[in-house]
Amino acid sequence: MNAIETQEHKDLREAVAALGRRHGPGFDRATLWAEAGKLGYLGVNLPEEYGGGGGGISELSIVLEESGAAGCPLLMMIVSPAICATVIARFGTDEQKRQWLPGLADGSLTMAFGITEPDAGSNSHRITTTARRDGDGWTVTGRKVFVSGVDIADATLIVGRTEDARTGSLKPCLFIVPRDAEGFGRSVIDMELQAQEKQFELVLDDVRLPADALVGEEDAGLLQLFAGLNPERIMTAAFAIGMGRYALAQAVEYAKTRQVWKAPIGAHQAVAHPLAQAHIELELAKLMMQKAAALYDAGDDIGAGEAANMAKYAAGEACVKAVDQAVHTLGGNGLTREYGLAKLIAAARVARIAPVSREMILNYVSHQSLGLPKSY
Ligand SMILES: Cc1cc2nc3c(=O)[nH]c(=O)nc-3n(C[C@H](O)[C@H](O)[C@H](O)COP(=O)(O)OP(=O)(O)OC[C@H]3O[C@@H](n4cnc5c(N)ncnc54)[C@H](O)[C@@H]3O)c2cc1C
Repeated sequence: MNAIETQEHKDLREAVAALGRRHGPGFDRATLWAEAGKLGYLGVNLPEEYGGGGGGISELSIVLEESGAAGCPLLMMIVSPAICATVIARFGTDEQKRQWLPGLADGSLTMAFGITEPDAGSNSHRITTTARRDGDGWTVTGRKVFVSGVDIADATLIVGRTEDARTGSLKPCLFIVPRDAEGFGRSVIDMELQAQEKQFELVLDDVRLPADALVGEEDAGLLQLFAGLNPERIMTAAFAIGMGRYALAQAVEYAKTRQVWKAPIGAHQAVAHPLAQAHIELELAKLMMQKAAALYDAGDDIGAGEAANMAKYAAGEACVKAVDQAVHTLGGNGLTREYGLAKLIAAARVARIAPVSREMILNYVSHQSLGLPKSY
């Protein structure tokens, strides 16, 4: 073991990297998902009694980072095992755990996560998706946008609020909505992204749900929500670091071999230094991601909150810069389909915007970490 990662972590990295190399950038999402699930990688953070690996977000983030570094990131890992399964494992009933966790752990079940709304956006206090008691169960009404992978997920964990929230303060409650529930409509948003997972606008038109669709307590919402959102930020950092590493590796390889003067272009410091800088920034972001994951896995939700935000910020910025520099290093080839780097320009921006934007993290750090007045 070294100070940062155990031997098991290193072995996991190497094993996932080998799987990633076998699939590579031309990967088929469903095939890789099934294989990663079978090998135990998708449920590495989940309790052993439900078929998981008994690890934490530290291990799960290694899986996503390494698959991304091999050019085949599994985006749905950010939501299915990291948010949804974490929330169910921590707050679900025994029946919900039995029903969902083994499948989420081995990848035979997938769950999407929907919080973003058209009129709320970054201000999730304004969400209006509403759950009303209806006999034994619930009726849920509302709209969501940009929800990833709803078509390939068996259900979506929807963040709503209870109707009697008189104070207007956020009182979220979480509902498992099956993909084919009556009144649960979805339409694809036409994104400029070449990802295999699509984003959807969702309409919940009086969706009738049984009592056991509610995950956790109706009144303990915030705590439950943050239990899932910290892993989401840590996993988004892993996604960004993996993508940044993949782009950087392509650029380094190219800079070593492309020769238009006496030496390969990588001999020019104007080419080499920005790549070195990108490497340093990705490594720094990774260190913060590891800190956030270690705090989260140790049960320190508050400490993990600050670190997870910082890790997501640092990783998003490092990824955008690494991809930009990688594209530039390849000259004209950086923009060809053949080299596959130009499409990462849009993909890298996702890590700057979602699940919480760069500015909202700067707001959080200004206010929470530095004690500056709140601006909004
Ligand atoms: C590819 C992709 C996948 C996604 N997947 C999911 C998913 O699976 N589930 C889900 O629920 N959501 C998902 N999202 C949505 C994502 O979380 C939101 O896009 C994000 O939270 C930002 O919200 P918004 O787009 O409404 O932007 P807005 O909130 O409208 O913000 C627009 C701009 O204004 C800035 N801004 C807003 N408020 C402030 C402020 N107070 N101070 C300073 N600047 C501010 C923001 O930083 C941003 O630059 C996804 C988005 C993308 C792009």
